[in-house]
Amino acid sequence: MARVLFINAGSEGHINPTIGVVQELIARGEEVVYFCVEAYRERIEQAGAAVRTIDGQKFIQAFISGGRNYPLERVNGLLLTADIVIPSVLEQIEGDTFDYMIHDSMFGCGRILAEMLQLPAISSCTSFAQSEEAFQQSLEHSWADADSEVIHPIKERYGSLISAIQSNYGVEIHTPYEVFCNPAPHTIVYTIREFQPSGDAFDSSYHFVGPSISARDKQDDIDLSASKGQHLIYISLGTVFNMANDFYKLCFEALGGSDHTVVMSVGRRTQITDLGIVPSNFIVRNYVSQTEVLQRANLFITHGGMNSAHEGLYFGVPLIVIPQAADQPIIARQVTKIGAGIQLQMPGLRAKQLRDAAEQVLNNPSYKQSADEMSVALQQSGGFKQAVDVIFEAVNA
Ligand code: UDP
Repeated sequence: MARVLFINAGSEGHINPTIGVVQELIARGEEVVYFCVEAYRERIEQAGAAVRTIDGQKFIQAFISGGRNYPLERVNGLLLTADIVIPSVLEQIEGDTFDYMIHDSMFGCGRILAEMLQLPAISSCTSFAQSEEAFQQSLEHSWADADSEVIHPIKERYGSLISAIQSNYGVEIHTPYEVFCNPAPHTIVYTIREFQPSGDAFDSSYHFVGPSISARDKQDDIDLSASKGQHLIYISLGTVFNMANDFYKLCFEALGGSDHTVVMSVGRRTQITDLGIVPSNFIVRNYVSQTEVLQRANLFITHGGMNSAHEGLYFGVPLIVIPQAADQPIIARQVTKIGAGIQLQMPGLRAKQLRDAAEQVLNNPSYKQSADEMSVALQQSGGFKQAVDVIFEAVNA
């Protein structure tokens, strides 16, 4: 039995794929101490890990205070989280020993901690993997229209933040890539190589294990067994970029009164009463058991979060992807490339456009067929079991 330190300060999309990994590690005899924010304590404890927490409010404030307009500002935001995460983790593990660590590829300063603790490390990447070259290019590209008065202070701040990390924690940071992608000797990516953009470009230290979808507690009281609609449409913008009342109202306009039953998850920060009259064919909730609903759905209208897109495709559900931010445009592009859905743009979206797109996907069997083909490929991948095989091989090599 080995003791595993798991560091993951991310939101739900970063947590969900790790639940199966934790369950599997514990089933195979490991002991897991998992650092996350308080919101996920119950879920991770249920998976069998001992949970210790990072202050979620302070973490998000630090991250946001880096700025949101340029990728290097996000890197600065991540560097600013170091003082929230590192002292807290060190204090809470004082006197403990661990055999190896697994860390999120983005949130939680995993690379820095692995170096400080001198532990073998595995990175858990819940988005598409990014090569250093591609990251560097996107960083350069992001400055294209920016004035030097904008760029200069952001770069200066980066410089002073990495100096502070070096003097406070004794860890040298060589590139923004190290901060944003937390490279490790082994990286687990929860997709298949064929779906990963430029999949062949990644060497064998990247392990494309496929989606890690484990049984979740039922979180809602939706009974879909009596659903009478012609089709079941599920709509969600995920858990982060989901404050979108205008969009939810547009969905009412587009699909209200249609022959379809529509389940719409609007996120925990949305007041359902602010959305006005809910059409009788809609079921609106702040949160649903997404993987349950998807198993019955005929169409998923999604923001294209990595997890949501994979969960939809895993169950053979064609998608309409309306990307909001982050990696979602890339996911939208991959979905359209394999023919499993179509992409719409949020700015300027009209109800008729959404309605027509929904009918197009529902009535043209090619989308369902491509989603089914992807479903077979994803279900044949190893998911969390393969992830743990990889982890064991890595730490026992
Ligand atoms: N999710 C859920 N119920 C909801 C909304 C979201 O279970 O009502 C889950 C979903 O299954 C997925 C995660 O939250 O695993 C969202 O992750 P994703 O990467 O799709 O998007 P993000 O929230 O990170 O933007």
